[in-house]
Amino acid sequence: MTEETQGFQADDSKEQKAQNKSLLSKGLPSKGRPADEVSALVEQRLSSDLAFTSGNILGSMCSQPHPFAASIFQQQLAKNIGDPGLHPALAEMEAETIRILGSLCGNPKAVGSIVTGGTEANLLAMWTAKNNTPKESREVVLPETAHFSFDKAASLMDLTLVKVPVDPHNRVKLDEYLQAVGPRTMALVAIAGTTGLGAVDPISEIAKIAEKHHLYLHVDAAFGGFVLPFLEAAGYPVGDAAEAVNSEAADSEVTSGSGQTVPLKAPAVFDFSLAGVSSITLDPHKMGRTPIPAGCILYRNEEIAGSSTTHVSYLAGGKTRQRTIVGTRSGAAVAAVWASLQHIGFDGYRDTVRRCMQNTYFLKNRIDAMSGIETVIPPVMNVLGIRPSQGTSEELAESLRARGFALSLFPGFLRITLMPHLNQSHLENFLQVLQDTLQETVNAMQKIQKEEPNIHSNRNQGENDAR
Ligand code: PLP
Repeated sequence: MTEETQGFQADDSKEQKAQNKSLLSKGLPSKGRPADEVSALVEQRLSSDLAFTSGNILGSMCSQPHPFAASIFQQQLAKNIGDPGLHPALAEMEAETIRILGSLCGNPKAVGSIVTGGTEANLLAMWTAKNNTPKESREVVLPETAHFSFDKAASLMDLTLVKVPVDPHNRVKLDEYLQAVGPRTMALVAIAGTTGLGAVDPISEIAKIAEKHHLYLHVDAAFGGFVLPFLEAAGYPVGDAAEAVNSEAADSEVTSGSGQTVPLKAPAVFDFSLAGVSSITLDPHKMGRTPIPAGCILYRNEEIAGSSTTHVSYLAGGKTRQRTIVGTRSGAAVAAVWASLQHIGFDGYRDTVRRCMQNTYFLKNRIDAMSGIETVIPPVMNVLGIRPSQGTSEELAESLRARGFALSLFPGFLRITLMPHLNQSHLENFLQVLQDTLQETVNAMQKIQKEEPNIHSNRNQGENDAR
Protein backbone atom coordinates (compact mmCIF):
# COMPACT_ATOMS: atom_id res chain seq x y z
CA MET A 1 0.00 0.00 0.00
CA THR A 2 1.39 3.40 -0.93
CA GLU A 3 1.52 6.38 1.41
CA GLU A 4 -1.10 8.09 -0.76
CA THR A 5 -3.69 5.32 -0.60
CA GLN A 6 -3.13 4.99 3.15
CA GLY A 7 -4.41 8.54 3.54
CA PHE A 8 -7.85 7.51 2.36
CA GLN A 9 -8.40 4.60 4.70
CA ALA A 10 -10.70 6.46 7.05
CA ASP A 11 -13.35 6.80 4.31
CA ASP A 12 -15.45 3.76 4.79
CA SER A 13 -18.02 3.63 1.96
CA LYS A 14 -17.17 1.48 -1.02
CA GLU A 15 -18.24 4.25 -3.35
CA GLN A 16 -15.97 6.71 -1.65
CA LYS A 17 -13.07 4.32 -1.90
CA ALA A 18 -13.70 3.85 -5.61
CA GLN A 19 -13.87 7.60 -6.10
CA ASN A 20 -10.65 8.10 -4.17
CA LYS A 21 -8.94 5.50 -6.26
CA SER A 22 -10.07 7.13 -9.47
CA LEU A 23 -8.96 10.52 -8.21
CA LEU A 24 -5.51 9.19 -7.57
CA SER A 25 -5.21 7.48 -10.90
CA LYS A 26 -6.55 10.39 -12.94
CA GLY A 27 -4.81 13.32 -11.26
CA LEU A 28 -7.01 16.42 -11.28
CA PRO A 29 -10.58 15.54 -10.28
CA SER A 30 -13.19 16.52 -12.88
CA LYS A 31 -15.58 17.68 -10.19
CA GLY A 32 -14.33 19.57 -7.20
CA ARG A 33 -14.88 17.96 -3.83
CA PRO A 34 -16.56 19.76 -0.91
CA ALA A 35 -14.23 22.01 1.07
CA ASP A 36 -14.85 20.31 4.42
CA GLU A 37 -14.08 16.93 2.89
CA VAL A 38 -10.85 18.16 1.28
CA SER A 39 -9.90 20.02 4.41
CA ALA A 40 -10.30 16.84 6.47
CA LEU A 41 -8.19 14.98 3.90
CA VAL A 42 -5.45 17.58 4.05
CA GLU A 43 -5.37 17.31 7.82
CA GLN A 44 -5.38 13.55 7.68
CA ARG A 45 -2.76 13.29 4.94
CA LEU A 46 -0.36 15.65 6.69
CA SER A 47 -0.96 14.58 10.27
CA SER A 48 2.12 12.36 10.34
CA ASP A 49 4.45 15.29 9.60
CA LEU A 50 6.32 16.72 12.54
CA ALA A 51 4.89 19.92 14.03
CA PHE A 52 6.86 22.64 15.80
CA THR A 53 4.28 22.62 18.59
CA SER A 54 5.07 18.98 19.42
CA GLY A 55 8.51 19.95 20.68
CA ASN A 56 10.07 17.19 18.59
CA ILE A 57 11.66 19.49 16.01
CA LEU A 58 15.03 20.31 17.52
CA GLY A 59 17.09 20.87 14.42
CA SER A 60 15.26 23.53 12.43
CA MET A 61 16.14 27.20 12.15
CA CYS A 62 12.46 27.92 11.54
CA SER A 63 9.78 27.95 14.21
CA GLN A 64 6.07 28.21 14.83
CA PRO A 65 5.24 31.74 13.61
CA HIS A 66 4.03 34.25 16.15
CA PRO A 67 0.20 33.92 16.06
CA PHE A 68 -0.26 37.63 15.48
CA ALA A 69 2.17 37.60 12.54
CA ALA A 70 0.32 34.59 11.13
CA SER A 71 -3.01 36.42 11.38
CA ILE A 72 -1.63 39.46 9.52
CA PHE A 73 -0.16 37.16 6.86
CA GLN A 74 -3.54 35.50 6.41
CA GLN A 75 -5.24 38.91 6.19
CA GLN A 76 -2.96 40.13 3.37
CA LEU A 77 -2.64 36.92 1.37
CA ALA A 78 -3.71 38.39 -1.97
CA LYS A 79 -1.07 41.14 -2.12
CA ASN A 80 1.69 40.91 -4.72
CA ILE A 81 4.47 43.29 -3.79
CA GLY A 82 6.17 42.37 -7.08
CA ASP A 83 3.67 44.78 -8.64
CA PRO A 84 4.07 47.72 -6.25
CA GLY A 85 1.88 50.02 -8.33
CA LEU A 86 -1.09 47.93 -7.27
CA HIS A 87 -0.18 48.26 -3.62
CA PRO A 88 1.64 51.58 -3.07
CA ALA A 89 0.80 51.59 0.64
CA LEU A 90 2.34 48.16 1.03
CA ALA A 91 5.39 49.32 -0.94
CA GLU A 92 5.79 52.15 1.58
CA MET A 93 5.40 49.57 4.36
CA GLU A 94 8.22 47.54 2.84
CA ALA A 95 10.47 50.61 2.65
CA GLU A 96 9.70 51.35 6.30
CA THR A 97 10.42 47.72 7.27
CA ILE A 98 13.78 47.96 5.55
CA ARG A 99 14.56 51.18 7.45
CA ILE A 100 13.67 49.50 10.78
CA LEU A 101 15.77 46.42 10.01
CA GLY A 102 18.54 48.72 8.76
CA SER A 103 18.49 50.56 12.12
CA LEU A 104 18.73 47.22 13.89
CA CYS A 105 21.84 46.61 11.78
CA GLY A 106 23.47 49.99 12.38
CA ASN A 107 22.17 51.88 9.33
CA PRO A 108 18.68 53.40 9.18
CA LYS A 109 19.46 54.52 5.62
CA ALA A 110 19.89 50.95 4.36
CA VAL A 111 17.91 49.95 1.28
CA GLY A 112 16.74 46.49 0.27
CA SER A 113 13.83 44.08 -0.02
CA ILE A 114 11.83 41.49 1.85
CA VAL A 115 12.60 38.28 -0.05
CA THR A 116 11.81 34.58 0.15
CA GLY A 117 14.55 33.72 2.63
CA GLY A 118 18.26 33.60 3.36
CA THR A 119 19.04 31.83 0.11
CA GLU A 120 17.49 34.51 -2.09
CA ALA A 121 19.13 37.23 0.00
CA ASN A 122 22.56 35.61 -0.38
CA LEU A 123 22.03 35.10 -4.12
CA LEU A 124 21.09 38.76 -4.43
CA ALA A 125 24.17 39.83 -2.49
CA MET A 126 26.44 37.83 -4.79
CA TRP A 127 24.62 39.14 -7.87
CA THR A 128 25.01 42.70 -6.65
CA ALA A 129 28.69 42.16 -5.83
CA LYS A 130 29.15 40.75 -9.34
CA ASN A 131 27.42 43.75 -10.90
CA ASN A 132 29.71 46.09 -8.94
CA THR A 133 32.94 44.32 -9.89
CA PRO A 134 35.01 44.01 -13.09
CA LYS A 135 34.67 40.77 -15.09
CA GLU A 136 38.17 39.54 -14.23
CA SER A 137 37.24 39.26 -10.56
CA ARG A 138 34.97 36.33 -9.94
CA GLU A 139 36.29 34.76 -6.73
CA VAL A 140 34.38 34.83 -3.46
CA VAL A 141 36.36 34.38 -0.24
CA LEU A 142 34.22 32.81 2.46
CA PRO A 143 34.44 30.52 5.48
CA GLU A 144 34.09 26.80 4.83
CA THR A 145 31.09 26.97 7.17
CA ALA A 146 29.13 29.23 4.79
CA HIS A 147 25.60 28.13 3.90
CA PHE A 148 25.13 26.10 0.72
CA SER A 149 23.26 29.00 -0.86
CA PHE A 150 26.72 30.33 -1.81
CA ASP A 151 27.37 27.10 -3.73
CA LYS A 152 24.12 27.78 -5.60
CA ALA A 153 25.27 31.36 -6.27
CA ALA A 154 28.59 30.07 -7.60
CA SER A 155 26.88 27.61 -9.91
CA LEU A 156 24.33 30.14 -11.16
CA MET A 157 26.80 32.96 -11.72
CA ASP A 158 29.92 31.02 -12.58
CA LEU A 159 31.79 32.22 -9.52
CA THR A 160 34.73 30.51 -7.83
CA LEU A 161 34.40 29.96 -4.10
CA VAL A 162 37.60 30.14 -2.07
CA LYS A 163 36.65 28.36 1.13
CA VAL A 164 38.74 29.19 4.19
CA PRO A 165 39.08 26.81 7.17
CA VAL A 166 37.72 27.66 10.63
CA ASP A 167 39.27 27.54 14.10
CA PRO A 168 38.11 25.16 16.85
CA HIS A 169 35.32 27.60 17.68
CA ASN A 170 34.05 27.51 14.11
CA ARG A 171 35.19 31.08 13.27
CA VAL A 172 37.05 31.58 10.04
CA LYS A 173 40.84 31.73 10.43
CA LEU A 174 41.79 35.35 9.80
CA ASP A 175 45.33 34.83 8.57
CA GLU A 176 44.22 32.23 6.01
CA TYR A 177 41.28 34.43 5.03
CA LEU A 178 43.62 37.31 4.34
CA GLN A 179 45.90 35.07 2.28
CA ALA A 180 42.94 34.00 0.13
CA VAL A 181 42.25 37.59 -0.93
CA GLY A 182 43.80 38.47 -4.28
CA PRO A 183 43.35 40.33 -7.58
CA ARG A 184 40.52 37.98 -8.68
CA THR A 185 38.51 38.54 -5.49
CA MET A 186 34.99 39.72 -6.26
CA ALA A 187 33.55 39.62 -2.75
CA LEU A 188 34.19 38.67 0.85
CA VAL A 189 31.61 36.82 2.93
CA ALA A 190 31.45 36.57 6.71
CA ILE A 191 28.87 34.73 8.79
CA ALA A 192 27.06 36.09 11.84
CA GLY A 193 25.59 32.84 13.14
CA THR A 194 26.84 29.83 11.19
CA THR A 195 24.32 27.27 10.07
CA GLY A 196 26.03 24.45 11.96
CA LEU A 197 27.00 25.93 15.30
CA GLY A 198 25.85 29.57 15.39
CA ALA A 199 29.43 30.87 15.42
CA VAL A 200 30.28 34.43 14.43
CA ASP A 201 33.29 35.17 12.24
CA PRO A 202 35.68 38.00 13.17
CA ILE A 203 33.61 40.42 11.12
CA SER A 204 35.22 43.65 12.31
CA GLU A 205 38.61 42.36 11.15
CA ILE A 206 37.20 41.16 7.83
CA ALA A 207 35.52 44.55 7.37
CA LYS A 208 38.95 46.19 7.70
CA ILE A 209 40.26 43.92 4.93
CA ALA A 210 37.27 44.87 2.76
CA GLU A 211 37.86 48.57 3.39
CA LYS A 212 41.57 48.37 2.74
CA HIS A 213 41.17 46.51 -0.56
CA HIS A 214 37.91 48.24 -1.62
CA LEU A 215 36.08 44.92 -1.72
CA TYR A 216 32.41 44.09 -1.41
CA LEU A 217 31.72 42.46 1.99
CA HIS A 218 28.49 40.56 2.55
CA VAL A 219 27.52 39.47 6.06
CA ASP A 220 25.20 36.48 6.23
CA ALA A 221 23.24 37.14 9.42
CA ALA A 222 20.30 34.99 8.33
CA PHE A 223 20.24 33.38 11.76
CA GLY A 224 22.22 35.81 13.93
CA GLY A 225 20.49 38.97 12.69
CA PHE A 226 17.57 38.47 15.04
CA VAL A 227 19.78 37.23 17.91
CA LEU A 228 22.95 39.33 18.11
CA PRO A 229 21.24 42.74 18.48
CA PHE A 230 19.37 41.45 21.55
CA LEU A 231 21.99 39.25 23.26
CA GLU A 232 23.48 41.83 25.57
CA ALA A 233 20.11 43.21 26.65
CA ALA A 234 19.04 39.60 27.30
CA GLY A 235 21.94 39.24 29.73
CA TYR A 236 24.46 37.40 27.56
CA PRO A 237 27.89 38.93 27.09
CA VAL A 238 29.08 40.32 23.82
CA GLY A 239 32.61 41.48 23.14
CA ASP A 240 34.92 42.68 20.51
CA ALA A 241 35.40 40.15 17.69
CA ALA A 242 39.14 40.62 17.54
CA GLU A 243 39.39 40.11 21.27
CA ALA A 244 37.33 36.93 21.00
CA VAL A 245 39.52 35.61 18.20
CA ASN A 246 42.94 36.65 19.41
CA SER A 247 42.74 36.36 23.15
CA GLU A 248 44.37 33.22 24.46
CA ALA A 249 42.43 33.79 27.65
CA ALA A 250 39.10 33.72 25.86
CA ASP A 251 40.00 30.47 24.13
CA SER A 252 41.39 28.70 27.16
CA GLU A 253 38.46 29.86 29.25
CA VAL A 254 35.91 28.27 26.97
CA THR A 255 37.84 25.10 26.27
CA SER A 256 38.78 24.35 29.85
CA GLY A 257 36.69 21.20 29.76
CA SER A 258 35.92 21.72 33.44
CA GLY A 259 32.23 21.23 32.80
CA GLN A 260 31.68 24.91 33.65
CA THR A 261 29.62 26.88 31.18
CA VAL A 262 31.56 29.95 30.20
CA PRO A 263 29.88 31.80 27.34
CA LEU A 264 31.99 32.43 24.27
CA LYS A 265 31.46 36.09 23.57
CA ALA A 266 29.62 37.07 20.42
CA PRO A 267 31.06 40.19 18.81
CA ALA A 268 29.37 43.42 19.80
CA VAL A 269 29.36 44.60 16.20
CA PHE A 270 28.66 42.60 13.07
CA ASP A 271 26.80 45.07 10.90
CA PHE A 272 26.80 48.35 8.93
CA SER A 273 28.46 50.16 11.83
CA LEU A 274 31.58 48.56 10.34
CA ALA A 275 32.41 50.76 7.35
CA GLY A 276 33.50 47.82 5.15
CA VAL A 277 30.13 46.03 5.20
CA SER A 278 28.23 46.36 1.91
CA SER A 279 25.21 44.12 2.47
CA ILE A 280 23.55 41.93 5.10
CA THR A 281 21.18 38.96 4.95
CA LEU A 282 18.58 38.72 7.73
CA ASP A 283 15.87 36.10 8.01
CA PRO A 284 12.67 37.17 9.73
CA HIS A 285 11.33 33.64 9.21
CA LYS A 286 14.03 32.25 11.50
CA MET A 287 14.40 34.10 14.83
CA GLY A 288 12.17 36.99 13.67
CA ARG A 289 9.11 34.83 14.39
CA THR A 290 7.30 35.52 11.12
CA PRO A 291 5.63 33.00 8.80
CA ILE A 292 7.64 31.48 5.93
CA PRO A 293 8.61 32.99 3.47
CA ALA A 294 10.40 36.02 4.85
CA GLY A 295 14.03 36.86 4.31
CA CYS A 296 15.62 40.26 3.92
CA ILE A 297 18.49 41.70 1.93
CA LEU A 298 19.88 45.00 3.18
CA TYR A 299 22.37 47.09 1.20
CA ARG A 300 24.41 49.89 2.71
CA ASN A 301 23.12 52.40 0.15
CA GLU A 302 21.39 52.99 -3.13
CA GLU A 303 24.66 53.16 -5.02
CA ILE A 304 25.48 49.54 -4.14
CA ALA A 305 21.91 48.23 -4.56
CA GLY A 306 21.26 50.03 -7.85
CA SER A 307 23.35 47.67 -9.95
CA SER A 308 20.85 44.84 -9.45
CA THR A 309 17.80 46.69 -10.68
CA THR A 310 15.55 45.35 -13.42
CA HIS A 311 13.29 47.98 -14.99
CA VAL A 312 9.76 46.86 -15.81
CA SER A 313 7.49 48.92 -18.02
CA TYR A 314 4.12 47.17 -18.05
CA LEU A 315 3.13 46.72 -14.39
CA ALA A 316 0.36 48.67 -12.70
CA GLY A 317 2.54 51.52 -11.56
CA GLY A 318 3.76 52.17 -15.09
CA LYS A 319 7.53 52.23 -15.14
CA THR A 320 8.64 50.36 -12.08
CA ARG A 321 11.64 48.33 -10.92
CA GLN A 322 12.41 45.07 -9.22
CA ARG A 323 15.43 44.20 -7.15
CA THR A 324 14.60 40.61 -6.30
CA ILE A 325 15.15 37.31 -8.07
CA VAL A 326 11.49 36.35 -7.95
CA GLY A 327 8.90 38.50 -9.75
CA THR A 328 5.58 37.93 -8.03
CA ARG A 329 6.36 38.28 -4.36
CA SER A 330 4.38 37.75 -1.19
CA GLY A 331 2.95 41.04 0.06
CA ALA A 332 1.60 39.10 3.04
CA ALA A 333 5.20 38.44 4.07
CA VAL A 334 5.97 42.16 3.99
CA ALA A 335 2.92 43.00 6.11
CA ALA A 336 3.71 40.16 8.53
CA VAL A 337 7.32 41.30 9.02
CA TRP A 338 6.27 44.93 9.57
CA ALA A 339 3.52 43.85 11.98
CA SER A 340 5.85 41.52 13.89
CA LEU A 341 8.42 44.26 14.37
CA GLN A 342 5.72 46.64 15.61
CA HIS A 343 4.01 44.12 17.89
CA ILE A 344 6.98 42.25 19.33
CA GLY A 345 9.28 45.28 19.59
CA PHE A 346 12.80 45.36 21.01
CA ASP A 347 11.71 44.09 24.42
CA GLY A 348 9.78 41.19 22.92
CA TYR A 349 12.74 40.06 20.79
CA ARG A 350 15.06 40.48 23.78
CA ASP A 351 12.77 38.25 25.86
CA THR A 352 12.57 35.66 23.06
CA VAL A 353 16.37 35.61 22.80
CA ARG A 354 16.70 35.36 26.60
CA ARG A 355 14.31 32.40 26.74
CA CYS A 356 16.05 30.64 23.85
CA MET A 357 19.47 31.23 25.44
CA GLN A 358 18.24 29.98 28.82
CA ASN A 359 17.01 26.83 27.10
CA THR A 360 20.34 26.52 25.29
CA TYR A 361 22.33 26.61 28.54
CA PHE A 362 19.80 24.39 30.31
CA LEU A 363 20.30 21.75 27.60
CA LYS A 364 24.05 22.26 27.39
CA ASN A 365 24.55 21.84 31.12
CA ARG A 366 22.41 18.71 31.23
CA ILE A 367 24.18 17.20 28.22
CA ASP A 368 27.59 18.06 29.66
CA ALA A 369 26.60 16.14 32.78
CA MET A 370 25.70 13.02 30.76
CA SER A 371 28.16 10.37 29.77
CA GLY A 372 28.46 9.21 26.17
CA ILE A 373 27.76 12.61 24.64
CA GLU A 374 29.48 15.98 24.48
CA THR A 375 28.82 19.49 23.21
CA VAL A 376 30.99 20.65 20.31
CA ILE A 377 31.66 24.31 21.20
CA PRO A 378 30.30 26.56 23.95
CA PRO A 379 27.23 28.20 22.44
CA VAL A 380 27.49 31.74 21.15
CA MET A 381 23.80 31.89 20.40
CA ASN A 382 20.90 29.43 20.62
CA VAL A 383 22.54 26.71 18.55
CA LEU A 384 24.13 23.67 20.15
CA GLY A 385 26.28 21.00 18.50
CA ILE A 386 26.41 17.57 20.16
CA ARG A 387 28.29 14.37 19.30
CA PRO A 388 28.30 10.91 20.80
CA SER A 389 31.48 9.38 22.16
CA GLN A 390 30.36 5.92 21.06
CA GLY A 391 28.85 5.22 17.66
CA THR A 392 28.52 7.84 14.96
CA SER A 393 26.47 11.01 14.75
CA GLU A 394 24.57 9.45 11.82
CA GLU A 395 23.57 6.50 13.99
CA LEU A 396 22.50 8.76 16.83
CA ALA A 397 20.46 10.95 14.42
CA GLU A 398 18.73 7.85 13.08
CA SER A 399 17.95 6.43 16.51
CA LEU A 400 16.54 9.77 17.67
CA ARG A 401 14.51 10.08 14.48
CA ALA A 402 13.09 6.61 15.05
CA ARG A 403 11.93 7.93 18.44
CA GLY A 404 10.29 10.93 16.81
CA PHE A 405 12.98 13.61 17.32
CA ALA A 406 14.38 15.50 14.33
CA LEU A 407 17.88 16.96 14.73
CA SER A 408 20.09 18.24 11.90
CA LEU A 409 23.06 16.16 10.88
CA PHE A 410 26.37 17.86 10.08
CA PRO A 411 29.70 16.13 9.43
CA GLY A 412 30.76 14.84 12.86
CA PHE A 413 27.96 16.35 14.94
CA LEU A 414 24.24 16.94 15.36
CA ARG A 415 22.76 20.41 15.56
CA ILE A 416 20.09 21.44 18.00
CA THR A 417 18.54 24.87 17.45
CA LEU A 418 16.80 26.14 20.54
CA MET A 419 14.00 27.97 18.77
CA PRO A 420 11.08 29.83 20.37
CA HIS A 421 8.74 26.83 19.97
CA LEU A 422 10.77 24.80 22.50
CA ASN A 423 10.22 24.88 26.25
CA GLN A 424 11.93 23.12 29.14
CA SER A 425 9.36 20.35 29.31
CA HIS A 426 10.08 19.53 25.62
CA LEU A 427 13.76 19.50 26.49
CA GLU A 428 13.21 17.21 29.50
CA ASN A 429 11.41 14.77 27.18
CA PHE A 430 14.25 14.95 24.71
CA LEU A 431 16.90 14.45 27.41
CA GLN A 432 15.13 11.31 28.62
CA VAL A 433 15.00 9.93 25.07
CA LEU A 434 18.63 10.91 24.46
CA GLN A 435 19.68 9.15 27.64
CA ASP A 436 17.78 5.98 26.65
CA THR A 437 19.21 6.09 23.12
CA LEU A 438 22.76 6.47 24.39
CA GLN A 439 22.27 3.62 26.82
CA GLU A 440 21.04 1.42 23.99
CA THR A 441 24.08 2.34 21.93
CA VAL A 442 26.35 1.44 24.85
CA ASN A 443 24.56 -1.90 25.24
CA ALA A 444 24.76 -2.61 21.51
CA MET A 445 28.42 -1.63 21.40
CA GLN A 446 29.25 -3.82 24.34
CA LYS A 447 27.51 -6.71 22.62
CA ILE A 448 29.41 -6.10 19.37
CA GLN A 449 32.66 -5.63 21.24
CA LYS A 450 32.23 -8.96 22.92
CA GLU A 451 31.47 -10.65 19.62
CA GLU A 452 33.80 -8.76 17.24
CA PRO A 453 36.23 -6.45 19.05
CA ASN A 454 38.10 -5.35 15.87
CA ILE A 455 35.00 -4.11 14.03
CA HIS A 456 34.03 -2.00 17.03
CA SER A 457 37.32 -0.13 17.25
CA ASN A 458 37.34 0.54 13.47
CA ARG A 459 33.86 2.09 13.58
CA ASN A 460 34.81 4.56 16.27
CA GLN A 461 37.93 5.52 14.41
CA GLY A 462 35.82 6.57 11.38
CA GLU A 463 33.83 9.04 13.45
CA ASN A 464 36.93 10.42 15.15
CA ASP A 465 38.48 11.09 11.76
CA ALA A 466 35.50 13.32 10.89
CA ARG A 467 36.17 15.65 13.85
N1 PLP B 1 22.32 31.59 5.70
C1 PLP B 1 22.43 30.91 6.85
C2 PLP B 1 23.53 31.26 7.81
C3 PLP B 1 21.53 29.88 7.15
O1 PLP B 1 21.69 29.19 8.27
C4 PLP B 1 20.51 29.59 6.23
C5 PLP B 1 19.55 28.53 6.49
O2 PLP B 1 19.61 27.82 7.46
C6 PLP B 1 20.44 30.33 5.04
C7 PLP B 1 21.36 31.33 4.81
C8 PLP B 1 19.39 30.02 4.01
O3 PLP B 1 18.14 30.44 4.46
P1 PLP B 1 16.79 29.92 3.76
O4 PLP B 1 16.68 28.47 4.11
O5 PLP B 1 15.76 30.78 4.38
O6 PLP B 1 16.92 30.13 2.31
